[in-house]
Amino acid sequence: MNIPYLPSLLAFCILCCASCEQVQKRIDKAIQVKKPFIIIIQPLGDMPVQHVRHVQERLKKVYPHVRIKQSIELPSQAYYHPRKRYRADSLIRFLKDRTAEGNITIGMTSSDISHTTGSSVDYGIMGLGYQPGKSCVVSTFRLAKKNIPSQFFKLCLHELGHTQGLPHCPEKTCYMRDAEGGNHFDEQTAFCKTCREYLESRNWHFESPTQK
Ligand SMILES: [Zn+2]
Ligand SMILES: [Zn+2]
Repeated sequence: MNIPYLPSLLAFCILCCASCEQVQKRIDKAIQVKKPFIIIIQPLGDMPVQHVRHVQERLKKVYPHVRIKQSIELPSQAYYHPRKRYRADSLIRFLKDRTAEGNITIGMTSSDISHTTGSSVDYGIMGLGYQPGKSCVVSTFRLAKKNIPSQFFKLCLHELGHTQGLPHCPEKTCYMRDAEGGNHFDEQTAFCKTCREYLESRNWHFESPTQK
């Protein structure tokens, strides 16, 4: 190599190292700043818009990244002809397959949903979610008609809690209480301290006592 080229070679090396450093800084930053997941609300069939909007408004106060997708038909493969209702396990599988990695989809329907429990092949339920996982489904069909907005929001928090990894909770007033075939939403006032702290470690925020 000729001596006259040495200064330009040095300059090239310095520039190259500076740009390598910048790239490394960007990589370090990307590792540190983990992208927050998005909760996607997926209305199914003729789900009433007012219930969807009500949940979105209240949900955003405890978890800010919430989007509503355009309504789609309930998938025909999830329909259970003998009981004329939809299989919740099929629905959450269908929703999972449509959800980008890292996000969570909550399907909302006014149709009746069911799944298999130990003693029953097709048992009517209000909601079902992976624990943990990318999707859950909730139905207004079995909620108290006079109090749907409040009960529906609590049901959504319960199933979203499962997607975050929360199991059922022994506290009777906690949103993660097991329904055990009944409707106990009016007795449920908040996430208990243990469940709340678990969600707060996953970027949920509960500020006012009514949200706790
Ligand atoms: Zn549950
Ligand atoms: Zn709890």
